[in-house]
Amino acid sequence: MTDIQQKMFAEMQNKSAFKKALDFGLKYVDESLTRNVYPTDEALEALKYFDEPLQAEPSDSLGIIEALNQYGSPATVSQIGGRYFGFVNGSVVPTGLAAKLLGTFWDQNTAMYVISPIAAKLENVVEDWLKSIFNLPAQTVAGFVSGTSSANLCGLAAARFRLLKNQGWEINQKGFLNAPPIKIIAGKEAHSTIIKAIGILGFGLDHIQFIDTDEQGRIKTELIPELDNRTLLILAAGNVNSGSFDKFSDICRKARDAGAWIHIDGAFGLWAGAVKNLAHLTDGIEYAHSWAVDGHKTLNTPYDSGIVMCADKEALTSALHMSGGYLVLSDDRDGMFFTPEMSRRARIIELWAILKYLGTSGIDQMVYGLHQRAKEFANELESIEGFTIMNEIVFNQVVVTCATDEITNQVIREIQDERVCWVGGSTWKGRKVIRISVCSWATTEQDIKLSVQSFKRAINKVAAIQTS
Ligand SMILES: *Cc1c(COP(=O)(O)O)cnc(C)c1O
Repeated sequence: MTDIQQKMFAEMQNKSAFKKALDFGLKYVDESLTRNVYPTDEALEALKYFDEPLQAEPSDSLGIIEALNQYGSPATVSQIGGRYFGFVNGSVVPTGLAAKLLGTFWDQNTAMYVISPIAAKLENVVEDWLKSIFNLPAQTVAGFVSGTSSANLCGLAAARFRLLKNQGWEINQKGFLNAPPIKIIAGKEAHSTIIKAIGILGFGLDHIQFIDTDEQGRIKTELIPELDNRTLLILAAGNVNSGSFDKFSDICRKARDAGAWIHIDGAFGLWAGAVKNLAHLTDGIEYAHSWAVDGHKTLNTPYDSGIVMCADKEALTSALHMSGGYLVLSDDRDGMFFTPEMSRRARIIELWAILKYLGTSGIDQMVYGLHQRAKEFANELESIEGFTIMNEIVFNQVVVTCATDEITNQVIREIQDERVCWVGGSTWKGRKVIRISVCSWATTEQDIKLSVQSFKRAINKVAAIQTS
């Protein structure tokens, strides 16, 4: 036995590093609801601890965990708490974190049934649950990927396979050179990961026909051109700024009848379909062919968790096909046919646990709560001189602007400096805006009040500087 082997057997036996990590983790949970949302300047400065060349000798396990806690924990962004409103980043449902913790010890690879029967089982179960939650066609299959970036890529790869196959062209075999043309139609505000996927898949950005969007960011239905079975139509459930939804019920049925492939980017918005009072927003999505949605945003699963769902199993699995003499395929679920990766961690564990924990009424309450908090945030800001709300609060997003782009930028900086909450900026409709995304189960009315107070101090400070 080598020295390093001996050392590792000892770690497995005494478990002190595991216990230490767990201790620190539990302490972190305690602080996560009240601590400064963004790391302090000192914490960021202290990160230089990590700048060192890799040493030759093995180091001490406890020391490693201690260093991570001492220098790493303070330099984390507290997304778990209730006052992080940046990007569209979810918190984490505690049971999901606990399930992930157990799953960490299992360290499963979800490539094939024979590699992890438990992961294959949970993926099958959750696939069924998701179909029912989102009211999707019975034949729909799901792939459990790292996020919507990957889910969009998979959905569009399935579309590429099917639209070309319809024209007698096998893309996997023949490639894109000399392939029959495909028309791509997307709203002008399609998410950057859609654009990225189209680039990666070789469609060429020049082949996208961008359609104007309305004042809420929705594709203008009346401007969508004649569709046919060589068209890929990309729609959005949840505009990344405003949270608005394309008018699926006006668009999807017709597009489907014309033979087009419809892909819906519903990274955070698709979950509106799971809420009684908001489900009208996703009416009509059931006519689409592929859907992308995140667990780690609205559903508050741990990172990283995204799902591609596709009503055309052959198209999805052909697009992501892989083969090799050593593969042991089963009649059960071999996850790698539904995702770009072969080896994958079992992110299904925490996704299953959270769905199981919440149940349909828990999901409804949690997601509707995000919507209610967003409305409160907007209402309170509206009453403060200097802030204007630019969007209808249909879901969890609030777009705020100040008198000038410069003031908006300064206000964002002041708010971020205070660290009571965290919001980011964006550009929307030609204006610099503050983008608020309420995406944490832990956000309370009190968190909204504290955050609004921070906004108020920020704009007063900027106004005072402006007039002095
Ligand atoms: C976040 C987001 C994505 C990308 O999802 P990731 O999970 O970050 O890969 C795509 N589309 C929309 C609308 C999003 O909000």
